[in-house]
Amino acid sequence: MKTQDETQEKKMAAAPGTMEEDTIAAIATAVGKAGIGIVRISGSDAFSIVQAVFRPTGTPLSRTDDRKLRYGHIVCGKKIIDEVLVSFMRGPHTYTAEDVVEINAHGGALSVRRILALVLEKGARFAERGEFTRRAFLNGRIDLAQAEAVRDVIDAQTTRAHEQAVKQLDGKLSKEINRIKDSVLQLLAEMEYGINFMEDAQEELPQEPMQNAARAILASMDALLSSAARGRLLREGIATAIVGSPNVGKSSLLNALLCESRAIVTDIPGTTRDSIEESYDLDGILLRLIDTAGIRETEDRVEAIGVERSRALMREADLILLVLDTARVPQKQDDELVAEAAAGTALLLLNKSDQPTADAFAQKLAQWKTQYPALSWLEISAKTGAGLSRLEEAIRDLFFEGAVENAPPAALTNLRQAELVRKSRNEVQQTLEDLERGVVLDAVEVSLRSAYRYLCEVTGESMDEKVLDRIFQSFCVGK
Ligand code: GDP
Repeated sequence: MKTQDETQEKKMAAAPGTMEEDTIAAIATAVGKAGIGIVRISGSDAFSIVQAVFRPTGTPLSRTDDRKLRYGHIVCGKKIIDEVLVSFMRGPHTYTAEDVVEINAHGGALSVRRILALVLEKGARFAERGEFTRRAFLNGRIDLAQAEAVRDVIDAQTTRAHEQAVKQLDGKLSKEINRIKDSVLQLLAEMEYGINFMEDAQEELPQEPMQNAARAILASMDALLSSAARGRLLREGIATAIVGSPNVGKSSLLNALLCESRAIVTDIPGTTRDSIEESYDLDGILLRLIDTAGIRETEDRVEAIGVERSRALMREADLILLVLDTARVPQKQDDELVAEAAAGTALLLLNKSDQPTADAFAQKLAQWKTQYPALSWLEISAKTGAGLSRLEEAIRDLFFEGAVENAPPAALTNLRQAELVRKSRNEVQQTLEDLERGVVLDAVEVSLRSAYRYLCEVTGESMDEKVLDRIFQSFCVGK
């Protein structure tokens, strides 16, 4: 339960220049040719505004029509604008916790636009991005992590990302954060007690229990943080750099994986000068494939820039697919590429397995295998498609131990949340170290209080207005 003060504090953080008493309206569906389009209105005047523009068949619209679907017309004077279905939902059990009206009109740009214009004329204000969800948050119906989950549900590009976001909507992450917050509060209370105790008794309070409590908090935070990487991969996809010397089959591999011919395949070395990015859905995981320029020593300045970019992409990628041509003598830069791949998360793809392996290549491979025993190797043929399903399997194993569906229920899915938990963790770590060094409790408490504040920001208690603006700006209008 939120206290009155908390809700009041959040209300003060409403969007700049807006008053929460405003009734807001927006087109909630994508504008374009479609079966239906929805205009959504929220606020204390939602009912009177719809009453002014809606002529239902049968009895006039009344506040007792709560959650009933009424058929009729949107009118402007005597002119009929559209034939619609109107639903009126009385707050507080609505999306925004305010009175909400949804007008279901015909799809296409004009119906909804004309209805919206009419609604604005009757006193509603055009909603800002994410303002409906912001109101749900400010009115205490959902917390900030849940609000962000709304956006994630809309933005999700794969089934797994979608499932994760839906779990978050349910407040699983918030529950875990609140549980950790309670432990921090408990420890703070113990410190307060310790501070008073020392003043009165002038003797040492045993610090072991407090240190253990701090360790337990750290362990919970670590568990949550370890879900962050996975959460990010589900949301943003796995950035996969396809690298290798020119002409080894990088573009062919990209095409084979995408089953379409987008990247240009040629046999003149160095033609893929810039990188190409394509995404595809690998069993619900988004694989963002980046076909990089071939890496080789070059005098050509334009090509050199491409090669430099390839190296940068290789360093930044979540996964490196290093393609090697087994039918050829290994090239000078291949040693270096294999070393670089070994330093990251990589799969070495021995391409052109449909052709006989060159002896020099086989020798070099044996040498790499002893030098980098931890590296994974796969024989493939981008031309025939051999080994590609094994490659996909290997990627799933590498990132999700083959079982994407076992994702933890409470996962940190976005950078903002992960960053806050990380900062909070550092403060708890500091607390623990101070306790171990026997620093006076008054001083130790400072870090723990910061740890608590960071956790509060995850769920959005006592949020800065500017931070809220930034978060809700990433929503679409009408949500
Ligand atoms: P990139 O420069 O690394 O992107 O290489 P490309 O994809 O443009 O391929 C270079 C050449 O190798 C083309 O002629 C491809 O048809 C050929 N190639 C690519 N993969 C295979 C393969 O698995 N087997 C065979 N035989 N040829 C391949």
